[in-house]
Amino acid sequence: MIVIKFGGTSVGDANKVAAAIDIVAERRDQKPIIVVSALSGVTNDLVAASEAARDQKPELVREIIARVRQRHEDVAMQLVQQKFDFFESFLKQLTKQVDQIQTILSGIALLGEITLRAKDKVVSIGEKLSSVLFAYSMMMRALPGEHVESEEVIWTNDNFGGATPLMNRTREAAMKTLLPLVERNHIPVMGGFIGRTMDGATTTLGRNGSDYSAAIVGAAVGAREVQIWTDVDGLLTCDPRFVSGARVIDLLSHEEAAELASFGAKLHPRTLEPAIAAGIPVRVLNTDKPSSLGTLITRDGSEGSSGPRSIARKRHVTVVHMTSNKMLGAHGFLARIFAAFEEEEVSVDLIATSEVSVSVTVDERHNIEELRQRLAQFADVEIIDEQAIIAIVGRNLLNDTRVASHVFEALRGIPTKMISLGRSGLNLSIVVDDRDSERAIQQIHAALFEVEGQAPRLSTEPTGEAPVAPRGNS
Ligand code: ASP
Ligand code: MG
Repeated sequence: MIVIKFGGTSVGDANKVAAAIDIVAERRDQKPIIVVSALSGVTNDLVAASEAARDQKPELVREIIARVRQRHEDVAMQLVQQKFDFFESFLKQLTKQVDQIQTILSGIALLGEITLRAKDKVVSIGEKLSSVLFAYSMMMRALPGEHVESEEVIWTNDNFGGATPLMNRTREAAMKTLLPLVERNHIPVMGGFIGRTMDGATTTLGRNGSDYSAAIVGAAVGAREVQIWTDVDGLLTCDPRFVSGARVIDLLSHEEAAELASFGAKLHPRTLEPAIAAGIPVRVLNTDKPSSLGTLITRDGSEGSSGPRSIARKRHVTVVHMTSNKMLGAHGFLARIFAAFEEEEVSVDLIATSEVSVSVTVDERHNIEELRQRLAQFADVEIIDEQAIIAIVGRNLLNDTRVASHVFEALRGIPTKMISLGRSGLNLSIVVDDRDSERAIQQIHAALFEVEGQAPRLSTEPTGEAPVAPRGNS
């Protein structure tokens, strides 16, 4: 069994859906389970519709909902129209779902308020529609696609907008609903992103949560591999939009990939959790190049070789510097600082300390002024906005002193605000002004990965064991 997940751009229009179905057809003998995102842009539209309803803009709501409806109708027109009963029955479902959204949106308009619960119900429609549409389109191609409600499979807590799966319950449900279908050579198709609480409310797993859904389903059924089909060639050494020498990483460990995902690298940050727990490989592939191998993420990655794998960036970060002479030799100072962060509910990301100062980064500016006032009672506080964290992710980054020396050499002339080496040499993070961050990445990438067009400069030298070759895709 494998899980095949298609992202929103991979099901964005009729041609894309048709290409995605080819990918499924070629992997039919691997007993696939399909997880799909909403058609690209639809979730954003649904969020916008809920906000427009809250803001009493009925015209705008109508316009957005009509557009969402039309997009699905267009794809259905092209892919399933020839079979009249499929088309009719899809349109019926489309109408039913659209009516349901409209009812919830009227409720939101009436209250002038959106609860997270109501919002989840509205945005979940995107995946409901895309998965039903995908299943019909498969049947048109004589593939035994069978739509399964994600809410029958993925059970979650009631943290609306970012729910966590209840794995035992989900495993049971997946065994009961998905396995019998797969055993009969049917191909289950479900929407990503959606789950359900024990008392029956629809939840979502957070934006871009379909990757996470795919990994949850993979872990629940004990799949051999979870494939994330998207619009890039895999995980890359760097963002190709501003580093032309960026290239695909063949093989990564779960840990390295999780670290990259937490920096927004193409995967929902929690995707790797179920895969790690169940020891399942994840592969990231490009829908437009179905025969390429993409990036394979396994428990051990390229075991036996150390060195940098990728450079990621997190933007719009705020640095909080705190200095206090009282800190010298005083105990409890750090506790007081972090208590202030806790009280203002500001979560800290990177930390660097010296004898008399502590610097941290935070992702959000909320409560930042309140935080400043609290901290000012016992420290000098400086807050710097619009910073970027550059993370060099790899294995045993400290074992090879050339990594640090190349990085700092590459940063010559670019002021750094903070430096932090994460757990077990997995992540060397550097904070620079956002304005300098592209240049910094270009220079670090060149130093670590590019030498006269060949990569990488720091070869990931095997330390005895042979590197694991990426497995074929079939
Ligand atoms: N459709 C959802 C979103 O756009 C989930 C996903 O695409 O993974 O956030
Ligand atoms: Mg996505």
